Amino acid sequence: MQTLLIVFSVVAAFALGGGIVVVHRLRRRVAELQHSTVALGEELARNVREFAEHRAAIDLIVGALREGLLAVSASGKVVFANARVSEMFGLSASLEGRTILEVVRKQKAADAIQKALRGTASSERIGITTPDGERRIEMRVVPVRPSSGIAAVALFIDISELARLERVRRDFLDDFSHEVRTPLAGLRSAAETLEGGRLTPDHEEALRQVMLRQLNRIERLVKDLAELNRIESGDLVLEPRRVELTDVLNDLCNEFRERAGQSVTFTVTGEPAAAAADPVRLQQIFSNLLDNAWKHGGGGKVTVEIARDDGNAIVRISDEGAGIPPAEIDRIFNRFYRVDRSRSQTVPGVGLGLSITKHLVLLHGGSIRAYNGPSGGATFEVRL
Ligand code: ADP
Repeated sequence: MQTLLIVFSVVAAFALGGGIVVVHRLRRRVAELQHSTVALGEELARNVREFAEHRAAIDLIVGALREGLLAVSASGKVVFANARVSEMFGLSASLEGRTILEVVRKQKAADAIQKALRGTASSERIGITTPDGERRIEMRVVPVRPSSGIAAVALFIDISELARLERVRRDFLDDFSHEVRTPLAGLRSAAETLEGGRLTPDHEEALRQVMLRQLNRIERLVKDLAELNRIESGDLVLEPRRVELTDVLNDLCNEFRERAGQSVTFTVTGEPAAAAADPVRLQQIFSNLLDNAWKHGGGGKVTVEIARDDGNAIVRISDEGAGIPPAEIDRIFNRFYRVDRSRSQTVPGVGLGLSITKHLVLLHGGSIRAYNGPSGGATFEVRL
């Protein structure tokens, strides 16, 4: 009996010991599981946070784009559009769920989207009317592998400024070639006549004079253009100091009196005034205006009036010519602009003088305007 008890106790002790080991193992396993669940939870939370951060960054970038970005579903409905799209097309309500035709209101745009949904990328230029005027928009559409409900993406780029610059460049080349063609034709014709020989000395001399005049014209064109370019690109640095306008204008008028002889009179009137300006550039401004008054003033009187107004110095240069046609006054300061191009042979000039003058006045922080006097003649008013 006693032996049996001993055996039983030994077996029980073994069984109990094994149970304890199992429980211990189980506890360890549960703790490990708990630990990995916590780690998994933390990783998940980190991923969600990172995803939200990425999403916020992408939203920020897309929202800040100057271009419009729009995504459509396979059925052609807008699923996403940044604020710029609404701004471009003047829409205030949400664009989601609308068709591209409702957003852009151009069949071309809808066709491009359909094309992209069939797998072909394309780009179109469309013109739209906004309260600020006409704008040119380039629309680039690309198909994307359908995911998150997006099947095609359209990018809208406002190319109005680019189109304007293209136009300016074309106009400039047109004007430039027109301006060079005339003196070149004169030069060629004179050179060919000289080449033909058997001319009287007087005729030869006259042809030489023609050639010299045309060469001067081309030279002036190149010089003025280089000057305008320098001013427009901001390379010109002014050296302002106090300048007595009356002195500058009296000196200039004396020079013009010598050049014009008896044909035109130049008078300076008004009160003494000073301005903070670059003396060389100031001379250039008034010399251009006096030259125009002489050239276009029809041989009458040129009057320079100096005045002061509210801390500004004002100079008005008036002539007694035909004046400027009222419809042309706004364009008179444009480069290459001349009211009557057909007079280019008789009245020298390449149409850059007023453009240079205006730029120089603006560079001084001043303003310039032109108007016709009540009894005819043009007046150019400079405020410094
Ligand atoms: P240009 O070298 O031809 O004189 P400007 O730029 O100085 O070039 O002038 C542009 C055009 O403006 C001239 O061709 C002329 O038609 C017009 N204009 C300028 N000044 C006068 C003026 N005082 N009276 C009438 N028209 C003028």
